[in-house]
Amino acid sequence: MKVLKFGGSSLASAKSIKLLIDIIKSEQQNLWVVVSASGKTTDYLVELTQLALAKDESYKVGLKTLEQHHISICKESLPIAAQTCVIALIKSACNELEQLLDAVYWLEDLSPKTQDKIISFGELLSAQLLAEIASKEIESVQYKDSRELISTNSQFTNAKVNFDRTNSFIADFQKNNEAKVTILGGFISANEANETTTLGRGGSDYSAAIYAAALKAEVLEIWTDVSGLYAANPKLVKQAKPIANISYEEAMELSHFGAKVIYPPTIKPVLEKEIPIKIKNTFDANAEGTTISNSSNGKRQTIKGISHVEGISLLTLEGLGMIGIHGISKRLFEVLANNHINIVMITQASSEHSICIAIAKESSQKAEQLINDAFKNEISEHLIQPISVENDLAILAVVGDQMKSHQGVSGTLFSSLGSNNINIRAIAQGASEKNISCVIKDDDVKKALNCIHAAFFEAHIKELNVYIAGVGNVGSKLVSQLQQQQVYLKEALNLNVKIVGIANSKQYYINENGLGNSDWITKLSEQKVDNDVSYYDAIAALNKQNSVFVDVTANEAVANSYADLLRKSISVVACNKIACSSDYNDYKELKYLAKKYKASFLYETNVGAGLPIIKTVQNLISSGDQITEIQAVLSGSLNFIFNEYTNGELFSTIVKQAQDEGYTEPDPRIDLSGKDVARKILILIREAGIPLEFEAITNNPMLPKGSLEAASVDDFYSLITTENDHFKQLLSEAKNQNSKLKYVASYKDGKASVGLQFIPKNHPFYNLEGKDNIVSFYTNRYQEQPLIIKGAGAGADVTASGLFADIIQIGSAN
Ligand code: ADP
Ligand code: ASP
Ligand code: MG
Repeated sequence: MKVLKFGGSSLASAKSIKLLIDIIKSEQQNLWVVVSASGKTTDYLVELTQLALAKDESYKVGLKTLEQHHISICKESLPIAAQTCVIALIKSACNELEQLLDAVYWLEDLSPKTQDKIISFGELLSAQLLAEIASKEIESVQYKDSRELISTNSQFTNAKVNFDRTNSFIADFQKNNEAKVTILGGFISANEANETTTLGRGGSDYSAAIYAAALKAEVLEIWTDVSGLYAANPKLVKQAKPIANISYEEAMELSHFGAKVIYPPTIKPVLEKEIPIKIKNTFDANAEGTTISNSSNGKRQTIKGISHVEGISLLTLEGLGMIGIHGISKRLFEVLANNHINIVMITQASSEHSICIAIAKESSQKAEQLINDAFKNEISEHLIQPISVENDLAILAVVGDQMKSHQGVSGTLFSSLGSNNINIRAIAQGASEKNISCVIKDDDVKKALNCIHAAFFEAHIKELNVYIAGVGNVGSKLVSQLQQQQVYLKEALNLNVKIVGIANSKQYYINENGLGNSDWITKLSEQKVDNDVSYYDAIAALNKQNSVFVDVTANEAVANSYADLLRKSISVVACNKIACSSDYNDYKELKYLAKKYKASFLYETNVGAGLPIIKTVQNLISSGDQITEIQAVLSGSLNFIFNEYTNGELFSTIVKQAQDEGYTEPDPRIDLSGKDVARKILILIREAGIPLEFEAITNNPMLPKGSLEAASVDDFYSLITTENDHFKQLLSEAKNQNSKLKYVASYKDGKASVGLQFIPKNHPFYNLEGKDNIVSFYTNRYQEQPLIIKGAGAGADVTASGLFADIIQIGSAN
């Protein structure tokens, strides 16, 4: 025979009950079917009780909703003739419930005993309803009240089973039980006085295990809403896969630390009888699921899974008076045990000068009082400090039988947490070495699970979560390059680059699963402008591992966000030059933050678009060279303008053309004023290790004064049309000297300048075409012949590919 247990989701609707009945029908042998309350009924009953206790009459309306929920399942599942008596049964149960809730309301008192009586109605209703529905489709169905079989002590809400009485009740009942299918409610039980008790939240699994063990069932099947026990909670880790085989011990460790697909005590009764447990999915009955048995005979993986429990408080007892004194831990544990406070994790430093325990947050206030009371003498003598309590934490556990024989599990675990800036508050390794657990912030759980899962189970593929700010010319090119290369990056570089967020100056669009190849332009334009939650807040709230923020704007406010992003371990890739060319201390601070928070700060496209100029300087410096002189044409747009301005076209027309083709900054004055070039040479100088400020760069203006002071870009164009003669004169002067006009940036002997120069024919800059850039570095190693880098220095495609290269560099780090 078999015992099948169906969780709340399998009883939540007429549709799921139909699936459940199909599963029962497909079985040839005798079955005991144990069920949970329908859907979230138990939570709901707890809520209604709390409302009644708080003198809030809305519990009455809530109760009607609950009644209606059960009646509608009955109506959808049963022929009309069969409905009346079942509806009467539901109504009578709800009447009784109402009386109980009324009593709580009037007495303003709720004992654990009453609480149990109230929540037992969830399973009483679901099991009887199912028995009625099943008996219409299957022959020989019987309902049995679990309270007549599972006998417990009187520890209401978390009662302990009396196995002798329970096993003999089950055996007695089974002797005369001829039903093919016996249906029972899980979770509920009774004490020796026949008062209703419950086995603790999630306890239906346990009821089923008790029955399976008592009946020596061939297998215990736990039917739920996921296809097995996964390597991590599949609701939080999309990449997680079900584990085919796992040992009892491993399953126990995983469930102890929150893999709630199976209730931890469940394993004990079946383990003793060596009955295998199968976890199956009601909604995908053909999926293989997980088998929990004596051997984990699956692949010899070092770790099997990662689980977590949220809502944890960490209590630390500390004091020099603890060293060498016996019995402190005993007293600490005793006071908690005597008050039924469960310790989830313990760590003690080898100095014995502090003990850390993790408990559920609900008990933390009580525990704090009890412990301070228990140690009041030591506290008053300053031997021990009052207990310190930290809330809003979670425990994360990495579990596997094979862990003890493999070094480096903790190394991988902690380095993947560390590199994502997840702070670890406490660490414990089970004596069995089947688990390593650590305490982290609740808010970090999802990120931690995903990065640990990636480190152990998807080691070959690294996921990068990219957030783009600015989707003009360059930004949209970058999106299409990333979309187009997605498959290649996965196959060739083992990188899964997901664009998770995208923003323009007004709105943003975020999709946790990535944009894929979707039409992001429409998606972005359909977003509501959210003034309450900024793009940065939304990024921080997602708290994803390996996050990269890409600034494709020229905006100062965006540049000002980098420090905060880096502090959250979010890497920054920028073509925006503002951050690196503003105050020197701010630039250094960003580099420092990147290092401290193990994030990257990359800005290759600040100078020369996609050309590898900054990397070259960094490599020269790190290999011990020194830069003595720089000569460069660093403005693709100005080079384009002066190359085009040769044969009679008006200067202003050419500037407009450069802007239209996307070669200038959004505001062309930034290029024409020389400010943009000055910023670029400043960044190169700083990268060369010289702490220079922007103001120290001599800017030899080429535009007549006044034109830069125009109120808008349009006004500026009207002003420079009046300056066409000025440029015409410059051009003819250059021609007379057999030279070309080039906008040059130079650095030598601690001094930097930018300005228009006449470049003679034999000069390497003379033939610089189109919008190309050129940089000559003179260094200790390149004294005679400079190191020259030359190539396209502006344009959306090359800038986007420079940003792309920076993103890949982050993906390839560590
Ligand atoms: P039931 O009502 O069937 O007892 P539960 O909600 O108690 O179902 O347990 C199933 C849920 O357990 C899943 O929906 C999933 O969210 C959660 N869960 C947590 N960790 C894991 C894990 N490692 N593998 C599978 N499910 C998990
Ligand atoms: N219905 C109970 C609960 O929600 C027991 C169970 O579902 O396992 O805790
Ligand atoms: Mg459960």
